[in-house]
Amino acid sequence: MATSAYWAWDRDGRPWKVARPIKAIGDRLRRYGYTVYYLGSDDTSHLQAARPLDHCPFSATGWPVPHPYPYVNAMDIMPPPAGSGLPSLQALGAQMLADKKAGHPGMAWLKYQNWEPVRDNGGPCYQDSFKPNHVQTASTDRGHIHQSGRTDLVAYAGADDYDPVARVRAPRTESAPTTEGEDDMGRQMMVADATGTVWLVDGLTRVPVADPAGAGNGQAHAESYLGNLGNGGQVGRFGTPPTAMDVWGIDVGGRLAAIEARIVAAEAADTARDTATLAAIRALTAGGTSVDTAAVINRINEVAATESTTVAALRADIATLRQRLAAAAQAEATSLTQP
Ligand SMILES: [Zn+2]
Repeated sequence: MATSAYWAWDRDGRPWKVARPIKAIGDRLRRYGYTVYYLGSDDTSHLQAARPLDHCPFSATGWPVPHPYPYVNAMDIMPPPAGSGLPSLQALGAQMLADKKAGHPGMAWLKYQNWEPVRDNGGPCYQDSFKPNHVQTASTDRGHIHQSGRTDLVAYAGADDYDPVARVRAPRTESAPTTEGEDDMGRQMMVADATGTVWLVDGLTRVPVADPAGAGNGQAHAESYLGNLGNGGQVGRFGTPPTAMDVWGIDVGGRLAAIEARIVAAEAADTARDTATLAAIRALTAGGTSVDTAAVINRINEVAATESTTVAALRADIATLRQRLAAAAQAEATSLTQP
């Protein structure tokens, strides 16, 4: 049943404005392409609820001071559109929560966050509350990130420049487990798997570490740039591995193919540039000029010829590497079939 506060607000002409830090961040997320809701729906789940929460301009749950009418002091951040390349709600929620815990001024206004750290509409769902100490409890508020603000910070300017998407995308400086310590050096080796794919590996086996925050820990990052070969027989080549240990490596053939593709693209770009330059010089000549255009054209052709030779040499090198890889894979397969 709607509260008297709801009817008073209705008689008042339904005014509302969003708390400054929430609007600063929410509007920024909208510009990126997220859908963000501020004012609650006009039904018994929000505005007409018996206990109006922070999506209501007349919330009954203000903290640490009574709710300042007619502020809306909450937002719902919906999942990014598929294929947008935007950080998931898991990455975004983890970043904002980590910033809150670390005392980042951009998140000082947060009262609590409801979110799902593993996936949308699945896995655990939490309320991480700061009133003022951090307490995590189970929540059923799924499918989005809900954030509520402190009532004493509705005019707070400290989040005006806070950009959680940029912070998620910023390069991480912490080192991954694969590159930590002194013991990782000098163990690179090539191995072929059952399909003939040749991998450059460091010979280390690792127990995959769970990533409950869904934000990607050091191991998840290492796995994404190295590739995980799993432990299906592959690990056996490094001795008998403990159960559930994985080995990671680089698909060498795949990397070579990527380099080749870049050479082809660079070559095409060079040709296009030379053609344009030559056309420009010929146009100048046609218009009459004192520049020695013949010398310039000769020099361009010379450089182009040198570049072609370099590219041809690079391609030959790659072809040789491919042959060696194939031979290595063959030898590997043979040695595996011998008793
Ligand atoms: Zn909400």
